[in-house]
Amino acid sequence: MTTDHGYPAVRMYIAGEWCQGGTGRTAPIVDPATEEVIGEVPLATPADLDRALDAATDGFRTWRETPIARRTAILHAAADLLTERAAEVGRVMTLEQGKPLAEATGEARRVADTLRWHADDARRAYGRIIPSEPGTLLTVRREPVGPVAAFVPWNFPAGGPMRKISSALSAGCSIVIKASEETPATAAALVACFADAGLPAGVLNLVFGEPAEVSAHLIDAPAVRLVAFTGSVPVGKLLAAHAGRVMKPSLMELGGHAPVIVCADADPVRAARRAAQAKFANAGQVCTSPSRFLVHESIAEAFTAEFVRAAEAVVVGDGLAEGTTMGPLANERRLKAMERLTADAVARGAKIRTGGERLDRPGYFFAPTVLTGVPADAELMHEEPFGPLAPIVPFTDLDEALAIANATPYGLAAYAFTESAATAERLVAGLEAGILSVNHCGGSVSEAPSGGVKESGYGREGGPEALDSYLVTKRVSHLLV
Ligand code: NAD
Repeated sequence: MTTDHGYPAVRMYIAGEWCQGGTGRTAPIVDPATEEVIGEVPLATPADLDRALDAATDGFRTWRETPIARRTAILHAAADLLTERAAEVGRVMTLEQGKPLAEATGEARRVADTLRWHADDARRAYGRIIPSEPGTLLTVRREPVGPVAAFVPWNFPAGGPMRKISSALSAGCSIVIKASEETPATAAALVACFADAGLPAGVLNLVFGEPAEVSAHLIDAPAVRLVAFTGSVPVGKLLAAHAGRVMKPSLMELGGHAPVIVCADADPVRAARRAAQAKFANAGQVCTSPSRFLVHESIAEAFTAEFVRAAEAVVVGDGLAEGTTMGPLANERRLKAMERLTADAVARGAKIRTGGERLDRPGYFFAPTVLTGVPADAELMHEEPFGPLAPIVPFTDLDEALAIANATPYGLAAYAFTESAATAERLVAGLEAGILSVNHCGGSVSEAPSGGVKESGYGREGGPEALDSYLVTKRVSHLLV
């Protein structure tokens, strides 16, 4: 069933059934390209959450006892369904989140690959046999931690949920996931692939609701054994503190404010093109988005000129329209944040080289923006912009650049451009970040870990490390009588 806008009716998925919330309470879903309400998302009651927790408890028992080959086959079947449905999933994602259709469809395809990768990797979650006393078998086993409570945001409506679901299910855990109330239909479309692939009831449960109520209820529940969150640093701190109070491990994938250091020996034009492309992807709403451009003073003007050209070449529009390369911001909060951060930087002396304002049309559109002369105390230099703002700051020597780069509490991604291998290694060693790219702005891939240091969180998603959060280690000493 779809609405007049071609947007599907959204339901929660609890204990193998699609359902509305107990009280029938809903929240509106807004198309960020038109500001029109396109649908409603059901909100869970505590009783709905308890049903999901009971289902996850039963689902965990079923799933951990399902032979690994069968588990892998179901996960591969879900990935195949998602690949088949990628075009439709992409269309729904663009409607509710705004990103260009090609980006949205690409995301749907990519996350199917993520699922395949984790499903296969879990087949190699080996334990070990340790040499021991004669007659004693000393082993180390890795077991699924148990039911997981996961919370994911709206910027990657497929990528966010799939990172949690694929790792949890591959490890043999069950999961109750609260996807974003602003992008619920993409999450529901992913869950439908698992349901249609034959995943046993209760293994995967999808809920929506008032975020603070849902997270408090799920984290407190004795059934939940791991808290996995992607989102902002302030909310991450709240959830990690709550998890700590009930002594549960947590995985925190939080925000960043990625520095880009462009050295004197780098090609300023090539660096500007590559950095600008990464900056405006998903309208800058990416936790690893490059967001502070530190450029050696000798090439700062050449870099800025090319960056401005690249920003002005971005085609901003409705993500469903042919040729659009940047959609609207996903919600009004981001639009207001762009206006606030820009006004603050200008009030402190920054110069707008291009953009700087919302577009004069309905929808949460903000122009790709380049600023120079942004002082160190501007909010934009400390607060994750999560939008299409690019402050360019000149530096004179590398130590100064490193000091500026490391001057925030964030430590997620960092980028460096240089033709010197020695300089690259110095930067890689000196940058406080969990994800580094040299001479390009590499995106995340299934086979390698992503995650932060400092206030950007802890734990890793992607790569073999992803399983670490979802498995517990058990030492077994067996005297063979
Ligand atoms: P926010 O911090 O209110 O929410 C971020 C996400 O957390 C949302 O999905 C929200 O539903 C959820 N959330 C909020 N409070 C929660 C709670 N008590 N329990 C469980 N979930 C909760 O802010 P926002 O306006 O949605 O996004 C703004 C900022 O969040 C951005 O500026 C960015 O810094 C950060 N963010 C980071 C990522 C990331 O991938 N690391 C993704 C989205 C947003």
